[in-house]
Amino acid sequence: MSTAEFTIHSVVCRTHRLLRDRPEMFAVDKLHIKVAGLYYTESKRIVVSYRHDILSVLFHEVLHHFYPNWPETRILAAEKFIMDHISRRSAIKILKAFVSIL
Ligand SMILES: [Zn+2]
Repeated sequence: MSTAEFTIHSVVCRTHRLLRDRPEMFAVDKLHIKVAGLYYTESKRIVVSYRHDILSVLFHEVLHHFYPNWPETRILAAEKFIMDHISRRSAIKILKAFVSIL
């Protein structure tokens, strides 16, 4: 996906697909309190800390997966944009899909 194709809808759909097709990529764990989540670029593994906002951290880490060349500042801006504008319906859809694979 090119950078120009970034929309909330596309990120929500791709995240939902990833949760369905690659559940082994995702885990929840107790990380250092200052670490909300991790994305391992080699293994493509995503770890979300349950001590932070699970939905925004999940989007943050999948954005690293979808856009490996984006700098952290751009990932953070995209995460904020998604969290500012995502619909209740989409938020519930992603949360349910995430919870179902744990
Ligand atoms: Zn990051």
